[in-house]
Amino acid sequence: MNALLSVSDKAGILEFAQALHGLGIRLLSTGGTAQLLQSHGLPVTEVAEVTGFPEMLDGRVKTLHPKVHGGLLARRDLPEHMAALAAHGIATIDLLVVNLYPFEKTVARAGCTLEEAIENIDIGGPAMVRSAAKNWKDVAVLTDASQYEGVLAELRAQGKVSDRTRFALSVAAFNRISNYDAAISDYLSSLQEDGSRSLFAAQANGRFVKLQDLRYGENPHQQAAFYRDLYPAPGSLVMAQQLQGKELSYNNIADADAAWECVKSFDQCACVIVKHANPCGVATGKHPLEAYGKAFQTDPTSAFGGIIAFNTTVRGEAAQAIAKQFVEVLIAPEFSEDALAVFRNKPNVRLLKIALPPGGASDWDQGRNAVDVKRVGSGLLMQTADNRELTLADLKVVTARQPTPAELQDLLFAWKVAKYVKSNAIVFCKDGMTMGVGAGQMSRLDSARIAGIKAQHAKLSLQGTVVASDAFFPFRDGLDVVVDAGATCVIQPGGSMRDNEVIAAADERGVAMVFSGVRHFRH
Ligand code: 5GP
Repeated sequence: MNALLSVSDKAGILEFAQALHGLGIRLLSTGGTAQLLQSHGLPVTEVAEVTGFPEMLDGRVKTLHPKVHGGLLARRDLPEHMAALAAHGIATIDLLVVNLYPFEKTVARAGCTLEEAIENIDIGGPAMVRSAAKNWKDVAVLTDASQYEGVLAELRAQGKVSDRTRFALSVAAFNRISNYDAAISDYLSSLQEDGSRSLFAAQANGRFVKLQDLRYGENPHQQAAFYRDLYPAPGSLVMAQQLQGKELSYNNIADADAAWECVKSFDQCACVIVKHANPCGVATGKHPLEAYGKAFQTDPTSAFGGIIAFNTTVRGEAAQAIAKQFVEVLIAPEFSEDALAVFRNKPNVRLLKIALPPGGASDWDQGRNAVDVKRVGSGLLMQTADNRELTLADLKVVTARQPTPAELQDLLFAWKVAKYVKSNAIVFCKDGMTMGVGAGQMSRLDSARIAGIKAQHAKLSLQGTVVASDAFFPFRDGLDVVVDAGATCVIQPGGSMRDNEVIAAADERGVAMVFSGVRHFRH
């Protein structure tokens, strides 16, 4: 059995090599590694001796040779492969130990020059690792000192490395190479004209494509940039075409996404107005003008300077109505010529045109990120997207009073909206229109109260409304607040320890309540 050892980080390599030697394994090695092992009395053959070529070009070319790669890549089960090795006097390499030039450490040092970085790009190391990892059925490839002990244990116990371990080592090797290459590409693409490095390219390049640098982030003292997925979903915000208006800001983009994601979940013509990541007005209508009028009415104060999204073509009349308010961004799948003419007089308004996903508004597999990502201190939280849709058949009436057919429609509408409102979410609705939105409070009770206060401000009566709660009512008090405000029908997930108490309260107050069985926290 032959082992090739070529490591930059030499920690643990001497002990490992001694153990391999003790097991009768022949050692091959590159310059620095060979020197270290030889200085401790280990018999080592230098790769230069095997290839018949000296290490050259300052070590840029050491192991890039058929005698090395043939030994790593030959399939031991194919007689032709083994015959080729024999014909060219190549010995198999059965165990490869490589850790790469410390590129990541080098570029992490303050003041690292481009030249230093380039010299620390390992070429032959990754090439050998790839060869060995590809041929995992015959070769064990070690890319980290933490793997030495486990491999030794198997060699001692069974005289070979198990299939399972060789496969695991191959996976680890490809992960290592992939991270290494990503570090190189991140570093190089982060370099800016003035020699400084962009923070964002270093974090996101490779998996994302930069669309633009932003003037600033959430606040003026924060730097920011906008990236899209390498393969964006059709109908998603990053596919938007900006038809006119000032440059999009960080907050514009975040809010535009919230508005667009919400509006495109409706099958009927709908309008969503977003302020600070929450819908402050949502409505359906026979046409965009009607939907907008209703959505605006929910909370005219908050709608000022809002982001407005439609899921149907915006035409002249709707455009004229919208142009009367201060709007930051307007999003639609299409704008008619006369709508565009209206906004030509308002050059600051940002118009975004985005095609709906090919499967239409309710096509959940298209136009949405399948994975939702949130950054936490030096880490990521990942989850599948919250894409559960509710139909009438999913609703379970738990009270004596049944919802009327009109209430049922409004329940589904309210539920759809509540999903896009930050938790705790309480949403009053009537006739396909939000009547009061309570968002983002730490207590459900306060969200309920705020929704009521907002309706008062907008001079809307909550009598006979339906209400959606994004999570269950833990006590009857939240229910009492919404019923006191005028709601006659409630949708909530159910599932509280005190469901019975809450159902009894609903019966006592004579309102209808349905359980959705689904929770929609949004933080
Ligand atoms: P040593 O200290 O043994 O002289 O060198 C070990 C390092 O050289 C390892 O990090 C290994 O990945 C790297 N290496 C091995 N072969 C080549 C090669 O052909 N070209 C380059 N650039 N690096 C190599």
